[in-house]
Amino acid sequence: MLRSFITWTILSLTLVANAQEKGNKRILDTLMAGNDSIVIFADKSWEYIKMLNFDGVTNPYLSALATELGWKEDWVNNVPYTYDNDLSKLEDTVWLCIVDDDNNEFCMPHPGMVTSTFKYRGKRFHYGIDVDLDTGDTLVSAFNGIVRYAQFNDGGFGNLIIIRHYNGLETYYAHLSKLLVSPNQEVKAGDPIGLGGNTGKSYGDHLHFEVRLYGNALDPETIIDFEKNELKKNNLLINGQMFSYSKSSKSYSSSSSSKSSSTDKNASVHKVTSGDSLYYIALKYGTTVDKLCKLNGIKKTDILHIGDKIKLK
Ligand SMILES: [Zn+2]
Repeated sequence: MLRSFITWTILSLTLVANAQEKGNKRILDTLMAGNDSIVIFADKSWEYIKMLNFDGVTNPYLSALATELGWKEDWVNNVPYTYDNDLSKLEDTVWLCIVDDDNNEFCMPHPGMVTSTFKYRGKRFHYGIDVDLDTGDTLVSAFNGIVRYAQFNDGGFGNLIIIRHYNGLETYYAHLSKLLVSPNQEVKAGDPIGLGGNTGKSYGDHLHFEVRLYGNALDPETIIDFEKNELKKNNLLINGQMFSYSKSSKSYSSSSSSKSSSTDKNASVHKVTSGDSLYYIALKYGTTVDKLCKLNGIKKTDILHIGDKIKLK
């Protein structure tokens, strides 16, 4: 055990951005071990968090449909999106149970005035909703689920938390000043997950909140009443139209990004610059993360370094 623990330490040390806390304990590091993680606390104690292939879907119909339609998603801790699923092509209407008998709680992540909605802002689509707050305000998880991502994101989100819920949805909480949870940690609706802030490409402290299904954003106001601070409905009927808001860069989102969404199909090599991810590169050149991984002999969880050359064809 000790030997493999040390091996993990050497091979897969993942430094979690900034100081984090779990409960009242300050987290020094989170070490990834496959789908599991080991959290090391400042007082030298550690905790093994086991999590194997959590897909979050409790609706068997949705799960079967996703398989049939080829929608995919992975459980990865350092990438916001892994597949460019296109839910706008959905021809049927799918029933999604947001809260049920086992997971029946909803909690408003942060009550506050909505300052920007799910819509085009200039040429870019705003894939979430902005809620006013003061830096330091506590944010809580909307539903029960497991933290998939909790780190600084240099694509514009700043400190970002993504939680995958048992209903199949993922919620995104961006621009935080502090992260209070770590990847693969189980959370209940209402559990504190972070403090509001103004990190990343943000002009003024606010919460950027997104709701996604298989990587595709849906309007949070479809399910949440931001004036009454309550869930609008327990069940959601999903159809392709809900996802046909934006024809390009469907899965990429940030409140404001400098990345171009135009594709360049003639280039054969891409040189990695600051803020790149395999997802952006795939999007930019009209290819997929899977193809890039195969071509370059890398894994989608590998970290890209500035100056790396990524083969495109
Ligand atoms: Zn926003």
